[in-house]
Amino acid sequence: MAEESYDAIVIGSGPGGAACATLLQKRGIRTLLIEKNDFTGGKMVSIEKDGYAYDLFPHGQVPMRGSAFEPIFAELGVSDDFQPALEPDDDREIIKIAYRKRGWDEYRIASQGQAMADPTPFFQLWDIDAEAQRKTVDFMAGLVAMTEAEIDGFDNVSMHEFLSGKDLPYELYSYLAFHANASLAEPIDLVSASEQIRIMRHMMLQGGGGQYKGGFGTLAKVMLREFEKNGGTLIRDNRVEKILVEDGGVTGVVSAKGSFRAPIVVSSAGLQPTVLKLVGEEHFDRSYVNYVKGLVPGWAFTSVRYFLEKPVMDVAMYVAYADESWIDMERYARMREGHIPEEVILFMVNHSFYDENAAPPGKQVLVSGTICSPDPEAKEIEGLWRVMDEQMQRFFPEIWAATERRDYSGPKDICTLTRDSVLPGQGGECVGLGQVVGQCGKLKPSVDAPIRGLYYAGADAGAAGMGTHQAAGSGAEVARLVVHECNRQRKMR
Ligand SMILES: Cc1cc2nc3c(=O)[nH]c(=O)nc-3n(C[C@H](O)[C@H](O)[C@H](O)COP(=O)(O)OP(=O)(O)OC[C@H]3O[C@@H](n4cnc5c(N)ncnc54)[C@H](O)[C@@H]3O)c2cc1C
Repeated sequence: MAEESYDAIVIGSGPGGAACATLLQKRGIRTLLIEKNDFTGGKMVSIEKDGYAYDLFPHGQVPMRGSAFEPIFAELGVSDDFQPALEPDDDREIIKIAYRKRGWDEYRIASQGQAMADPTPFFQLWDIDAEAQRKTVDFMAGLVAMTEAEIDGFDNVSMHEFLSGKDLPYELYSYLAFHANASLAEPIDLVSASEQIRIMRHMMLQGGGGQYKGGFGTLAKVMLREFEKNGGTLIRDNRVEKILVEDGGVTGVVSAKGSFRAPIVVSSAGLQPTVLKLVGEEHFDRSYVNYVKGLVPGWAFTSVRYFLEKPVMDVAMYVAYADESWIDMERYARMREGHIPEEVILFMVNHSFYDENAAPPGKQVLVSGTICSPDPEAKEIEGLWRVMDEQMQRFFPEIWAATERRDYSGPKDICTLTRDSVLPGQGGECVGLGQVVGQCGKLKPSVDAPIRGLYYAGADAGAAGMGTHQAAGSGAEVARLVVHECNRQRKMR
């Protein structure tokens, strides 16, 4: 293929790359989008197979109202295609929470609507007295009242540190440890308090627990349909092997299907893979390379997908945790030594609740997950799958007999699918570098790389919040900077 020229090249079609490329093309920047897989959507890919339609990984939308996708769809003129499969004021029973306190023999279950604004179901579930309830309400009200600047002040403080020394019921701490695992895919002593506070505020004030008709991947599909409609070029099944740099500025990329030239390259392949593999560390200052190597990957999820001959779950999401089952770094260290816990936290999504076409008539597809390390070589993954299966049978005794098929994935699959492993223990991250203490908010890596014309879009740089929301927000932020830069270059010509 001859060397074609573009105004900008975007690498990767997950929410970050898709949002960025689509906005650039809409704003008149001739854009080439290159995706290594033969499908689009990155980690938020949705699959259609054997009559089932589901997300490969368990996903939930936070926030329900005011997500980063909304202004993008509005700018594209396709707001009608933004179809959350749950209205913000939907008052059905949406989420079931199963909790086992230390000392209880069995899990107890509470139901709630989509948002967390009403703590009553939690108080009943936790079985706490009026004084503990008051402390919980005061704490949550304090989070809601915080200013953005106050939240920024906790970028470098883990949630565990943030809670330490506060006079709070243990049941609240245990829930927040579970929430860090299930919603942010981080241990409570690794997650940034600022990031977790932001996400909790989103859930309390703007709702959480949403999905989309056809799954999350629909969001990427709509954006990329508009991208191509507006004249953008999308090449799938094409891995970028090298980002070219001359005289301190990018000049294009080398890919499996040829070389392409552009003065701007936006990479959503991950900050570490971009710097250390696609560009090459020789093009950066040593201090920047050390900074990049020192960035800590976020954690991952193992997933099990259950294809069922008959429904076993009647709500949209089912989550389960016990005081002993959430993960912090100490518990993980024991797991790493080979002590697989008897229970794990579970996060389960029932696609059939959101979309009547998610499964053939009378059937159901569930996607479940639990937190694990991002290490593609982690040895504990098979043990975690076994425990997940056992727990699913505990909560849904009829599931085994109803199972047509199950399939399993872990950090190795996330890595193969989306993000190259360029450092030991890294590659399987759910949200990239996104939510780790010291790497969020004001301390988040900049979207603007120290090479002229190179930007990072996606969950590694810029923006905040849940994974897809922050990736799309980052893509939009990069698009704004790139348009500004292109206009500056045009004026100079
Ligand atoms: C198990 C799991 C559960 C999750 N749960 C949630 C949830 O409940 N809610 C939520 O909001 N988020 C969730 N997330 C996180 C969310 O999916 C990610 O944060 C988001 O997809 C990141 O978007 P991105 O654009 O940064 O990267 P990605 O989605 O990883 O996209 C990057 C793209 O770049 C492509 N690429 C990489 N290298 C190259 C190359 N060299 N050449 C060409 N293409 C390349 C990849 O193939 C991929 O398509 C979850 C993720 C996982 C894995």
